[in-house]
Order: sequence, then structure tokens, then C-alpha cells
Amino acid sequence: MHVLVLGAGITGVTTAWYLRRAGFDVSVVDRQPEAGLETSYANGGQISVSHPEPWANPAAPFIALRWLGRSDGPLLFRPRRELAQWRWALAFLRECLPARSRRNTEAIANLAVYSAAQLRSLREELGLGYEFLGHGILHLFFSEREFGKAAERVALLARHGIRARLCSRAEMLALEPALAAMAPGLAGGIHAPDDESGDAFRFTQALAQKCQEAGVRFYYGTRIDRLAHTGGLIDGIEVRDSAGRSGLLSAGAYVVCLGSYSARLVAPLGERLPIYPVKGYSITVPVADPAHAPSVSLTDESARIVCSRLGNRLRIAGTAELAGFDTSVDAQRGQNILRWLDQRLPGAAHAERAVLWAGLRPATPGNVPIIGKSECVNLWYNTGHGTLGWTLACGSAAALAGLMSGAPPPVRFPFRRPRR
Ligand SMILES: Cc1cc2nc3c(=O)[nH]c(=O)nc-3n(C[C@H](O)[C@H](O)[C@H](O)COP(=O)(O)OP(=O)(O)OC[C@H]3O[C@@H](n4cnc5c(N)ncnc54)[C@H](O)[C@@H]3O)c2cc1C
Repeated sequence: MHVLVLGAGITGVTTAWYLRRAGFDVSVVDRQPEAGLETSYANGGQISVSHPEPWANPAAPFIALRWLGRSDGPLLFRPRRELAQWRWALAFLRECLPARSRRNTEAIANLAVYSAAQLRSLREELGLGYEFLGHGILHLFFSEREFGKAAERVALLARHGIRARLCSRAEMLALEPALAAMAPGLAGGIHAPDDESGDAFRFTQALAQKCQEAGVRFYYGTRIDRLAHTGGLIDGIEVRDSAGRSGLLSAGAYVVCLGSYSARLVAPLGERLPIYPVKGYSITVPVADPAHAPSVSLTDESARIVCSRLGNRLRIAGTAELAGFDTSVDAQRGQNILRWLDQRLPGAAHAERAVLWAGLRPATPGNVPIIGKSECVNLWYNTGHGTLGWTLACGSAAALAGLMSGAPPPVRFPFRRPRR
């Protein structure tokens, strides 16, 4: 069967790969001239299995209130006269209830463990080059109060089979000597040795190349305007190329991997996907002094900032802004990340050569992606991966390809099924 994958971000490209391997004839459509040029372009680089807890947790409303209205805060809500934004914000609050948060954590943890294993075998099989590092992730706590809850987190991870251990300041320094400048302020940390880091964009591009070699067709520079349908059957996608020529592309089945834009495309079918963009920023800086630039990936739990070594560059990312589909880069938000670099890793990188970037996380209120079948007989979803699209990409795609082939779900996860 011929399958059209809509979107060539990391989710679309991994979907294309696993579908092709399962024997489908696959084409991919994207408005950009290459793969991975939107949200998958410059993310934090972490394969963070050790962070399955969604932002929507019982403490989140209080944290959000603390940062409300502060333009330098890691969380920013820019209210708009837009029903989708308010609906999403209310649904987010609902997902903060303890039982829902626990259920979401469990679903994400199951998928993340499976996904990391899929990524490992894909890397070994294809030898993809993407600045991979396997030194784990070190979660940093700068307050005794936050570190006080770290043992509970390690226990939760252990229940999901995720290895992690508490570290004293000395143990953290032994693991990553580049923490020396920030060490006096550290209360402690958690080290998750099986976590990884790498450049999601390079991975996406390298895998797109492998897809092409395996016979997958890519229609780049092709905007999808509408899904043409008759009742519950998709007849094709109405597209427009960069020269303005329109046409209809048809296949036996369609998979929506359009990131933050997924909900808009399927809304006319009466399908409501709870996906809203949550904007984030990153800076990419050339390493100045390798001894001061960490190679263990870092998560600053207080500032909500992550840092990954990508070859001779550092990628530092963070902040969450509920501000619609605006992808403009606000220099002030970038300054917050640059200040973090200056304070925490002085001398490590050439801050004056930092490249600032902003992207839209395709977020569901509980951070659980939407994977599975829609109400239409030949329409499938693999979208809404929020803060963890790189971590969950291979597992989500492998699982979807299995479901489309009629295999049972590979992990306990709320895969989407039609209601009727
Ligand atoms: C600052 C930041 C830091 C992050 N850090 C991490 C991290 O460390 N680890 C992690 O796991 N995740 C991280 N993420 C999340 C991760 O980057 C995303 O979840 C992931 O990139 C989403 O991939 P996607 O393929 O679903 O979306 P995208 O990469 O946005 O791909 C969607 C594609 O659809 C195409 N498209 C959309 N609309 C149309 C249309 N109408 N017609 C044709 N094409 C269309 C776009 O061109 C795009 O290529 C981070 C995100 C941000 C913003």
C-alpha cells in the first residue's frame, strides 16, 4: 500500500523509515526545501528518558503563578483572543491533577524506554552521524528544597526500569569536571547514565537520505492546503508547490506528522486534536575551551534549561511561551539563555557567536503524543510530541508502523483508536 506521510520533521522522517521497512510504499510531503527545518531544527539535543514527568503536574500551577507576567521567566503566557489557546490552557490545568499526571508520566516513560532502544538499534544498523554522545544526562539542582525531592524521582524512574542515581556535588564533578564554576551553588544532582544526546536535525537529514536510498519519495517545497475527503475516507491532499501550482496527491493511507500545524489541517474533518504550539528558544555556540564545555548533557532543573555538547558546539535550550504560532525570535528571551551560559559555564563557548533560534513545540496538555488511527478509515496520527519529540521519535514511528501493519501495540501506551 502507498502511504503519504505529511511532514518531514523528525517525526515524519522516522515514520517514513519504519513504514518503508514494514514494506509500505512511502512518500513524504513538506513545505520546506529540506527535512527537519522547523521544530526539529535546533532543539536541546537530549534523549531524555529520565524526564518522563510532563510539565502538567500538581506543582505546575504554582510554578506558573510565580513566573506569570515576568518576561525573564522560563514560562510565559501571552494571552490571546483565541479559543484554542484558552481551551488548551484549561486542559493543561486538568492534566495537573495527581492521577492524570501519574498516568501521563507512565505512558511517556513506557514509550521513552522503547524509543531509546529503537534509536540504539537504528544507530547501530545504519551508522548515522549526528554528533551522538552516550554520557547520560545530569539533572542539576541548585536548591536544597528541589534536591530534597530527588530521591522520590529516582524511585519513580526505577519503577519504570530507568536507571538513575543521586549524586553529591563531588560525584557530579567527578562525572563532569566542566561543572567546576557552578559547583559552589549546586545542591546535588541525578545522573541517568543511559540517556544520550545528539543533533536531531543532522539525524533527521541523515535518516531522510537513508529513506531516499530505500525508495521513499520526498515532495519538498510542497504546501498542504487541505485534506480532500468523502465521508470518512480521505481521497487525497490538496497541495501547492513553490511555483504556486496546485494539485492533488493520493495514496491508500495518510499519516499526519505536521507538528504544531496538525490540528488545523484535520479540524475541517471534525477531528479535534488538543495540540497547541509552546514556543521555546535555543542558542548554538562554538566551543571555546573543550575542558570547560561539558560532554555530559545537563538539565538545570531550577532554570528549566538544557545543555548538550554537539561536536565542537554547545546547544543550550529552554523557555516555554504560550503565544500562538508566532516564530519570531525575541532577543530578550535569548538573553536569558546567554546569561545562563555566562554564569554557569564561563569561558566554555564563544557567546558573541551564538546563533539564536526559536521553535514551536507541538504540545498536548499532558505531553502525551497522539499516535494511532483517526476517525477516518485511512488517516493516522503521529504528532503532538511536545517537549520530547527527539526522545520519542523512533519509538513512536516504530509503534505506528506496527499498528498500521496490524501488529499488537509494542508497549503500554494510550494509542489512539477510532471511537466507532
Ligand atoms: C527549544 C526546544 C528544545 C527542545 N529540546 C528537546 C530535547 O532536548 N529533547 C527532545 O526529545 N525534544 C526536544 N524538543 C522537542 C522536539 O524538538 C519536538 O517535539 C520535535 O522536533 C517535533 O517534531 P515534529 O516532526 O513533530 O515537528 P516539526 O519538526 O515541526 O515537523 C513538522 C513538519 O511539518 C511541516 N508542515 C507543517 N505544516 C505544513 C503544511 N501545511 N504543508 C506542508 N508541510 C507542513 C513543517 O514544514 C515541518 O517540517 C525541543 C523543542 C524546542 C522548541
